[in-house]
Amino acid sequence: MTHPASGRVAVYTEPNAPFQVESYPLRAPGPREALVRVSMSTICRSDIHSYQGHRPNPCPGLLGHEIVGRIVALGQELTCDMRGEILAIGDRITWSEFFIPHGNYFTDVLDLPQKSPGVEKYGHMAVTTAPHHHGGFAEYCYVLPKSWILRLPDSLTDAEAAPINCGVATMVAVTEAANIRLGSTVVVQGMGLLGLYGAALAKSRGARYVIGLDIHAARRAQSHRFGVDLALDPSMDKVQLLESINAHCQPVGPDAVIEVCGVAEAITLGLDMVRIGGTYVIAGLVSPGAQVTIDANRIVRKMVTLRGIHNYHPRHLVEALDFVVANKTRYPFSELVDGRYPLDQVTQAMADASSQRVLRAAIVP
Ligand SMILES: [Zn+2]
Repeated sequence: MTHPASGRVAVYTEPNAPFQVESYPLRAPGPREALVRVSMSTICRSDIHSYQGHRPNPCPGLLGHEIVGRIVALGQELTCDMRGEILAIGDRITWSEFFIPHGNYFTDVLDLPQKSPGVEKYGHMAVTTAPHHHGGFAEYCYVLPKSWILRLPDSLTDAEAAPINCGVATMVAVTEAANIRLGSTVVVQGMGLLGLYGAALAKSRGARYVIGLDIHAARRAQSHRFGVDLALDPSMDKVQLLESINAHCQPVGPDAVIEVCGVAEAITLGLDMVRIGGTYVIAGLVSPGAQVTIDANRIVRKMVTLRGIHNYHPRHLVEALDFVVANKTRYPFSELVDGRYPLDQVTQAMADASSQRVLRAAIVP
């Protein structure tokens, strides 16, 4: 395969403004880079937050980081993926949503590569920054050095594969931090895409009972197909809610509670729900300004382990892919992507995604 002299990108010009499709030049990939023809890029909630101006993102910028594509040009030093599988032109791949400039204290000592100084993310850079094609809302994307790449099996559809490098991998990290094991009881706050993957992952880790919370009835109904045993409306009477949860998480309440609803006020409820000695993982509050008042005495007396999880370790990307491959007949992952849009309709896709008219909008450039 070869590539043309330029490729189209949907440029994020300013918050809430229409995207502008523009062309930027393509060059041969560097020795440790790949050039990918994007086949699908799903819109993550963080793309929506960026687009709405709730989090800092350069303008004019290029969004989209849940990307799947086929290699059209390959640097000579990029010979294999994370697992040592040989990479070749024509291969379909996923890759970490972040890349880092070089090894450092966070990679070598703290084992938190995603927190490396100078870390950059696909779909989070100015489109004027070379090589311009570093996001998903585009025909092409460069996979840059110090990214973590996985070759995708043909058995996965693009819709099943696209959320792996963000939504699924993040929830692998979250459910690991939540210490879910055989027989655990788990509550997941928020039945959006992350919550549904979280429920399915909790079940595959051996959870005995999974309760999903969401204020939207349609999402509660859908959650049963992703491993949720009981779906409740968190806006119901709080005493009743806690009683229902505890009745199913005998004898002393849920072992793990996971927040992926992105609502700061939900934190106090999560602390009320988790059992004494349980684990509470907060992962949905990704935008600045998530102020909440909690009685920290509750953390002490309940001996709660409180964890924040942001992004994931590259090993979680491997687990995410394997989880989706192993469970794609058990859970209907492909139906999570319920809207498809060409590159010149990114504005509409973003509107439908932000109004939650679709669960996961996909750009098919
Ligand atoms: Zn994301």
